[in-house]
Amino acid sequence: MEQRVRQILERALEGTPPGREECVYLLGFPEHAPEAAWTRAAADTVARGKTGNTGLLFGQVGLELYPCEADCKFCAFGKTHTGFSGKITLGEEEIRQKVHDFTKDGDLYCLWLMTMDKYDLGYYLRAVEIARETAPPQTLLYTNIGDTDYETFVKLKAAGADGAYHVVRLGEGTYTAIPPARRRETIEAARRAGLMLQDCLEPIGTEHTPEELVDHIFATIAGGFDTAGVMKRTPVPGTVFTDEITNARLAQIVAVNALAVMALDPYPWIPVHEADPVSLASGANSICAETGVNPRDTAADTARGRGLDVTACREMLWQAGFTHLAKGDGTRVALTRAYIERCKANA
Ligand code: SF4
Repeated sequence: MEQRVRQILERALEGTPPGREECVYLLGFPEHAPEAAWTRAAADTVARGKTGNTGLLFGQVGLELYPCEADCKFCAFGKTHTGFSGKITLGEEEIRQKVHDFTKDGDLYCLWLMTMDKYDLGYYLRAVEIARETAPPQTLLYTNIGDTDYETFVKLKAAGADGAYHVVRLGEGTYTAIPPARRRETIEAARRAGLMLQDCLEPIGTEHTPEELVDHIFATIAGGFDTAGVMKRTPVPGTVFTDEITNARLAQIVAVNALAVMALDPYPWIPVHEADPVSLASGANSICAETGVNPRDTAADTARGRGLDVTACREMLWQAGFTHLAKGDGTRVALTRAYIERCKANA
Protein backbone atom coordinates (compact mmCIF):
# COMPACT_ATOMS: atom_id res chain seq x y z
CA MET A 1 0.00 0.00 0.00
CA GLU A 2 1.26 3.49 -0.79
CA GLN A 3 2.78 5.22 2.23
CA ARG A 4 0.66 8.36 1.74
CA VAL A 5 -2.54 6.30 1.95
CA ARG A 6 -1.34 4.72 5.19
CA GLN A 7 -0.66 8.15 6.69
CA ILE A 8 -4.08 9.55 5.68
CA LEU A 9 -5.92 6.53 7.07
CA GLU A 10 -3.92 6.43 10.31
CA ARG A 11 -4.72 10.11 10.89
CA ALA A 12 -8.41 9.42 10.20
CA LEU A 13 -8.44 6.57 12.71
CA GLU A 14 -7.00 9.03 15.24
CA GLY A 15 -9.80 11.54 14.47
CA THR A 16 -8.49 13.82 11.70
CA PRO A 17 -10.53 13.76 8.48
CA PRO A 18 -8.80 13.80 5.09
CA GLY A 19 -8.74 17.14 3.27
CA ARG A 20 -10.02 17.84 -0.24
CA GLU A 21 -6.83 16.89 -2.10
CA GLU A 22 -6.42 13.75 0.00
CA CYS A 23 -9.98 12.67 -0.89
CA VAL A 24 -9.27 13.20 -4.60
CA TYR A 25 -6.10 11.13 -4.18
CA LEU A 26 -7.94 8.30 -2.39
CA LEU A 27 -10.58 8.20 -5.13
CA GLY A 28 -7.87 7.95 -7.79
CA PHE A 29 -7.20 4.28 -6.98
CA PRO A 30 -9.22 1.61 -8.79
CA GLU A 31 -11.85 -0.04 -6.61
CA HIS A 32 -9.98 -3.37 -6.66
CA ALA A 33 -6.69 -1.87 -5.41
CA PRO A 34 -5.43 -2.66 -1.88
CA GLU A 35 -5.53 1.10 -1.18
CA ALA A 36 -9.29 1.07 -1.81
CA ALA A 37 -9.75 -1.95 0.47
CA TRP A 38 -7.86 -0.25 3.32
CA THR A 39 -9.83 2.96 2.79
CA ARG A 40 -13.09 1.04 3.08
CA ALA A 41 -11.88 -0.72 6.23
CA ALA A 42 -10.84 2.55 7.89
CA ALA A 43 -14.15 4.22 7.00
CA ASP A 44 -16.12 1.28 8.37
CA THR A 45 -14.20 1.49 11.65
CA VAL A 46 -14.66 5.27 11.91
CA ALA A 47 -18.40 5.30 11.08
CA ARG A 48 -19.28 2.40 13.38
CA GLY A 49 -17.27 4.03 16.16
CA LYS A 50 -19.06 7.36 15.69
CA THR A 51 -22.55 5.80 15.70
CA GLY A 52 -22.23 2.99 18.25
CA ASN A 53 -22.51 0.44 15.42
CA THR A 54 -26.01 1.67 14.64
CA GLY A 55 -27.98 1.49 11.40
CA LEU A 56 -31.05 3.34 10.18
CA LEU A 57 -34.13 2.23 8.29
CA PHE A 58 -35.56 4.76 5.85
CA GLY A 59 -38.75 4.34 3.86
CA GLN A 60 -40.00 6.10 0.76
CA VAL A 61 -43.56 6.24 -0.54
CA GLY A 62 -43.77 7.41 -4.16
CA LEU A 63 -47.10 9.25 -4.20
CA GLU A 64 -47.58 10.30 -7.79
CA LEU A 65 -46.36 9.57 -11.28
CA TYR A 66 -46.74 11.55 -14.49
CA PRO A 67 -44.31 12.70 -17.20
CA CYS A 68 -42.13 15.13 -15.27
CA GLU A 69 -41.26 18.62 -16.52
CA ALA A 70 -37.78 18.53 -14.99
CA ASP A 71 -36.97 15.84 -17.59
CA CYS A 72 -33.95 14.46 -15.75
CA LYS A 73 -32.04 12.26 -18.20
CA PHE A 74 -31.40 9.59 -15.56
CA CYS A 75 -35.00 9.25 -14.37
CA ALA A 76 -37.75 6.89 -15.54
CA PHE A 77 -40.26 9.78 -15.39
CA GLY A 78 -38.52 12.46 -17.54
CA LYS A 79 -41.17 13.77 -19.96
CA THR A 80 -39.24 13.28 -23.21
CA HIS A 81 -38.31 9.64 -22.63
CA THR A 82 -40.68 8.13 -20.04
CA GLY A 83 -42.51 4.92 -20.88
CA PHE A 84 -45.32 5.95 -18.52
CA SER A 85 -48.30 7.88 -19.87
CA GLY A 86 -51.23 9.32 -17.95
CA LYS A 87 -51.17 9.90 -14.22
CA ILE A 88 -50.99 7.65 -11.19
CA THR A 89 -51.92 9.20 -7.83
CA LEU A 90 -52.15 7.26 -4.58
CA GLY A 91 -55.47 7.78 -2.80
CA GLU A 92 -55.77 8.60 0.91
CA GLU A 93 -56.38 5.00 1.99
CA GLU A 94 -53.45 3.72 -0.10
CA ILE A 95 -51.17 6.31 1.50
CA ARG A 96 -52.40 5.38 4.97
CA GLN A 97 -51.88 1.66 4.29
CA LYS A 98 -48.38 2.10 2.85
CA VAL A 99 -47.29 4.34 5.74
CA HIS A 100 -48.73 1.84 8.21
CA ASP A 101 -46.92 -1.08 6.55
CA PHE A 102 -43.58 0.76 6.76
CA THR A 103 -43.94 2.06 10.31
CA LYS A 104 -46.00 -0.53 12.23
CA ASP A 105 -42.92 -1.92 14.03
CA GLY A 106 -41.94 1.52 15.28
CA ASP A 107 -38.30 1.36 14.15
CA LEU A 108 -38.37 3.40 10.91
CA TYR A 109 -36.04 6.39 11.37
CA CYS A 110 -37.66 8.48 8.66
CA LEU A 111 -40.18 8.34 5.88
CA TRP A 112 -39.89 10.28 2.62
CA LEU A 113 -42.98 11.27 0.66
CA MET A 114 -41.94 11.63 -2.96
CA THR A 115 -43.68 13.32 -5.85
CA MET A 116 -42.68 14.93 -9.16
CA ASP A 117 -41.02 18.29 -9.85
CA LYS A 118 -44.40 20.08 -10.10
CA TYR A 119 -46.99 18.97 -7.59
CA ASP A 120 -50.39 19.87 -6.24
CA LEU A 121 -49.83 21.47 -2.85
CA GLY A 122 -53.28 20.63 -1.46
CA TYR A 123 -52.80 16.94 -2.28
CA TYR A 124 -49.28 16.89 -0.90
CA LEU A 125 -50.22 18.67 2.34
CA ARG A 126 -52.97 16.09 2.87
CA ALA A 127 -50.46 13.27 2.25
CA VAL A 128 -48.15 14.73 4.92
CA GLU A 129 -51.06 14.99 7.37
CA ILE A 130 -52.08 11.37 6.75
CA ALA A 131 -48.50 10.19 7.18
CA ARG A 132 -48.16 12.16 10.43
CA GLU A 133 -51.43 10.71 11.77
CA THR A 134 -50.40 7.17 10.81
CA ALA A 135 -46.68 6.98 11.61
CA PRO A 136 -45.51 6.82 15.22
CA PRO A 137 -44.03 10.06 16.61
CA GLN A 138 -40.50 8.62 16.61
CA THR A 139 -40.52 8.36 12.79
CA LEU A 140 -39.43 11.59 11.10
CA LEU A 141 -41.20 12.77 7.95
CA TYR A 142 -39.14 14.19 5.07
CA THR A 143 -40.40 15.85 1.91
CA ASN A 144 -38.97 14.72 -1.43
CA ILE A 145 -40.51 17.24 -3.83
CA GLY A 146 -39.64 19.73 -6.55
CA ASP A 147 -38.35 23.22 -5.95
CA THR A 148 -40.41 24.93 -3.29
CA ASP A 149 -40.47 28.35 -1.61
CA TYR A 150 -40.15 29.30 2.05
CA GLU A 151 -43.88 29.95 2.63
CA THR A 152 -44.77 26.50 1.33
CA PHE A 153 -42.16 24.81 3.51
CA VAL A 154 -43.68 26.62 6.49
CA LYS A 155 -47.05 25.05 5.60
CA LEU A 156 -45.47 21.64 5.12
CA LYS A 157 -43.81 21.89 8.51
CA ALA A 158 -47.14 22.84 10.10
CA ALA A 159 -48.70 19.76 8.43
CA GLY A 160 -46.12 17.49 10.07
CA ALA A 161 -42.93 17.50 7.97
CA ASP A 162 -39.69 17.35 9.98
CA GLY A 163 -37.22 17.70 7.15
CA ALA A 164 -36.53 17.93 3.44
CA TYR A 165 -34.48 15.76 1.10
CA HIS A 166 -33.27 18.16 -1.56
CA VAL A 167 -30.06 17.83 -3.52
CA VAL A 168 -28.03 19.66 -6.14
CA ARG A 169 -27.47 16.57 -8.19
CA LEU A 170 -24.42 15.70 -10.28
CA GLY A 171 -25.04 17.18 -13.73
CA GLU A 172 -27.80 19.48 -12.44
CA GLY A 173 -28.73 21.88 -15.26
CA THR A 174 -27.05 19.61 -17.84
CA TYR A 175 -28.81 16.29 -17.34
CA THR A 176 -31.83 18.09 -15.87
CA ALA A 177 -33.91 21.15 -16.82
CA ILE A 178 -33.32 22.72 -13.38
CA PRO A 179 -30.63 25.37 -12.75
CA PRO A 180 -28.42 24.41 -9.77
CA ALA A 181 -29.10 27.85 -8.23
CA ARG A 182 -32.80 27.04 -7.96
CA ARG A 183 -32.03 23.80 -6.08
CA ARG A 184 -29.80 25.73 -3.68
CA GLU A 185 -32.56 28.34 -3.12
CA THR A 186 -34.96 25.53 -2.21
CA ILE A 187 -32.48 24.05 0.28
CA GLU A 188 -32.09 27.43 1.94
CA ALA A 189 -35.89 27.95 1.99
CA ALA A 190 -36.32 24.61 3.79
CA ARG A 191 -33.55 25.51 6.23
CA ARG A 192 -35.16 28.90 7.00
CA ALA A 193 -38.50 27.15 7.58
CA GLY A 194 -36.83 25.11 10.33
CA LEU A 195 -36.68 21.78 8.51
CA MET A 196 -33.82 19.31 8.88
CA LEU A 197 -31.85 18.69 5.70
CA GLN A 198 -30.63 15.57 3.96
CA ASP A 199 -28.03 15.57 1.21
CA CYS A 200 -26.78 12.86 -1.13
CA LEU A 201 -23.97 12.53 -3.64
CA GLU A 202 -26.08 11.38 -6.59
CA PRO A 203 -26.58 10.03 -9.17
CA ILE A 204 -23.01 8.81 -9.73
CA GLY A 205 -22.11 7.56 -13.21
CA THR A 206 -18.89 6.32 -14.80
CA GLU A 207 -18.04 9.79 -16.16
CA HIS A 208 -17.76 11.48 -12.77
CA THR A 209 -14.20 12.35 -11.83
CA PRO A 210 -12.77 12.23 -8.29
CA GLU A 211 -12.69 16.06 -8.34
CA GLU A 212 -16.43 16.33 -9.11
CA LEU A 213 -17.28 13.82 -6.39
CA VAL A 214 -15.10 15.58 -3.85
CA ASP A 215 -16.60 18.99 -4.74
CA HIS A 216 -19.99 17.64 -3.74
CA ILE A 217 -18.68 16.00 -0.54
CA PHE A 218 -17.18 19.31 0.61
CA ALA A 219 -20.38 21.19 -0.31
CA THR A 220 -22.20 18.74 1.97
CA ILE A 221 -19.77 19.54 4.76
CA ALA A 222 -20.18 23.29 4.22
CA GLY A 223 -23.99 22.93 4.10
CA GLY A 224 -24.27 21.23 7.49
CA PHE A 225 -26.65 18.43 6.48
CA ASP A 226 -27.76 15.75 8.93
CA THR A 227 -27.26 12.95 6.42
CA ALA A 228 -24.59 12.58 3.75
CA GLY A 229 -25.75 9.82 1.44
CA VAL A 230 -24.21 8.28 -1.68
CA MET A 231 -26.18 6.89 -4.62
CA LYS A 232 -25.11 5.46 -7.91
CA ARG A 233 -26.97 6.03 -11.16
CA THR A 234 -29.13 3.14 -12.25
CA PRO A 235 -29.21 2.63 -16.04
CA VAL A 236 -33.01 2.68 -16.27
CA PRO A 237 -34.24 1.25 -19.60
CA GLY A 238 -35.46 4.10 -21.82
CA THR A 239 -33.05 6.70 -20.38
CA VAL A 240 -29.89 7.71 -22.25
CA PHE A 241 -27.58 6.11 -19.69
CA THR A 242 -26.51 2.52 -20.12
CA ASP A 243 -23.34 2.59 -18.02
CA GLU A 244 -23.08 1.88 -14.31
CA ILE A 245 -20.33 2.06 -11.69
CA THR A 246 -19.71 -1.15 -9.78
CA ASN A 247 -20.91 -1.63 -6.24
CA ALA A 248 -17.23 -1.88 -5.27
CA ARG A 249 -16.62 1.64 -6.67
CA LEU A 250 -19.78 2.87 -4.95
CA ALA A 251 -18.42 1.49 -1.66
CA GLN A 252 -15.06 3.20 -2.23
CA ILE A 253 -16.87 6.53 -2.71
CA VAL A 254 -19.00 5.82 0.38
CA ALA A 255 -15.79 5.25 2.31
CA VAL A 256 -14.09 8.48 1.26
CA ASN A 257 -17.32 10.37 1.99
CA ALA A 258 -17.56 8.73 5.44
CA LEU A 259 -14.00 9.79 6.27
CA ALA A 260 -14.38 13.34 4.96
CA VAL A 261 -17.60 14.06 6.90
CA MET A 262 -15.75 13.45 10.15
CA ALA A 263 -15.37 17.23 9.78
CA LEU A 264 -19.06 17.55 10.75
CA ASP A 265 -20.28 17.55 14.34
CA PRO A 266 -22.57 15.77 14.95
CA TYR A 267 -21.39 13.08 12.59
CA PRO A 268 -24.06 12.65 9.88
CA TRP A 269 -25.82 9.42 9.02
CA ILE A 270 -24.58 7.85 5.79
CA PRO A 271 -27.23 6.31 3.57
CA VAL A 272 -26.27 4.25 0.53
CA HIS A 273 -28.61 3.76 -2.37
CA GLU A 274 -29.41 1.26 -3.58
CA ALA A 275 -28.80 -0.84 -0.50
CA ASP A 276 -25.65 -2.92 -0.87
CA PRO A 277 -23.67 -5.08 1.58
CA VAL A 278 -20.24 -3.89 0.38
CA SER A 279 -21.11 -0.26 1.15
CA LEU A 280 -22.57 -1.28 4.52
CA ALA A 281 -19.10 -2.61 5.37
CA SER A 282 -17.45 0.62 4.12
CA GLY A 283 -18.98 3.41 6.22
CA ALA A 284 -22.64 3.44 5.14
CA ASN A 285 -25.26 2.76 7.81
CA SER A 286 -28.67 3.67 6.37
CA ILE A 287 -30.78 2.00 3.70
CA CYS A 288 -34.22 2.63 2.27
CA ALA A 289 -37.32 0.53 1.74
CA GLU A 290 -39.47 1.74 -1.16
CA THR A 291 -43.05 1.46 -2.28
CA GLY A 292 -45.15 3.26 -4.92
CA VAL A 293 -43.39 4.90 -7.85
CA ASN A 294 -39.58 5.05 -8.07
CA PRO A 295 -37.43 7.09 -10.53
CA ARG A 296 -35.07 4.12 -10.93
CA ASP A 297 -37.74 1.60 -11.81
CA THR A 298 -40.01 0.92 -14.76
CA ALA A 299 -42.55 -0.85 -12.49
CA ALA A 300 -45.41 1.44 -11.43
CA ASP A 301 -45.13 0.06 -7.87
CA THR A 302 -41.48 -0.47 -7.01
CA ALA A 303 -42.45 -2.84 -4.18
CA ARG A 304 -43.03 -5.31 -7.06
CA GLY A 305 -39.82 -4.24 -8.81
CA ARG A 306 -36.49 -2.91 -7.50
CA GLY A 307 -37.74 -1.73 -4.11
CA LEU A 308 -36.77 -3.58 -0.91
CA ASP A 309 -39.30 -3.94 1.90
CA VAL A 310 -38.54 -3.02 5.52
CA THR A 311 -37.95 -6.64 6.53
CA ALA A 312 -35.32 -7.06 3.82
CA CYS A 313 -33.60 -3.82 4.93
CA ARG A 314 -33.58 -4.90 8.58
CA GLU A 315 -32.12 -8.23 7.57
CA MET A 316 -29.42 -6.60 5.42
CA LEU A 317 -28.35 -4.29 8.26
CA TRP A 318 -28.14 -7.27 10.65
CA GLN A 319 -26.15 -9.30 8.11
CA ALA A 320 -23.77 -6.32 7.82
CA GLY A 321 -23.08 -6.59 11.55
CA PHE A 322 -25.03 -3.63 12.92
CA THR A 323 -26.16 -4.26 16.49
CA HIS A 324 -28.64 -1.39 16.91
CA LEU A 325 -31.26 0.57 14.97
CA ALA A 326 -31.82 4.26 15.75
CA LYS A 327 -35.27 5.83 15.60
CA GLY A 328 -35.99 9.42 14.63
CA ASP A 329 -36.22 10.53 18.26
CA GLY A 330 -32.73 9.25 19.03
CA THR A 331 -33.82 6.13 20.92
CA ARG A 332 -32.34 2.79 19.87
CA VAL A 333 -33.43 -0.81 19.68
CA ALA A 334 -31.14 -3.86 19.71
CA LEU A 335 -30.97 -5.41 16.23
CA THR A 336 -30.95 -9.17 16.82
CA ARG A 337 -32.19 -12.23 14.97
CA ALA A 338 -34.99 -12.58 17.57
CA TYR A 339 -36.03 -8.93 17.03
CA ILE A 340 -36.20 -9.43 13.26
CA GLU A 341 -38.36 -12.53 13.72
CA ARG A 342 -40.69 -10.66 16.12
CA CYS A 343 -41.16 -7.90 13.52
CA LYS A 344 -41.84 -10.49 10.81
CA ALA A 345 -44.52 -12.08 12.99
CA ASN A 346 -46.18 -8.65 13.44
CA ALA A 347 -47.98 -8.99 10.10
S1 SF4 B 1 -35.68 12.84 -10.85
FE1 SF4 B 1 -37.47 13.87 -9.93
S2 SF4 B 1 -37.45 15.92 -10.85
FE2 SF4 B 1 -36.18 14.63 -12.18
S3 SF4 B 1 -37.56 13.85 -13.80
FE3 SF4 B 1 -37.50 12.33 -12.12
S4 SF4 B 1 -39.27 12.85 -10.83
FE4 SF4 B 1 -38.84 14.65 -12.13
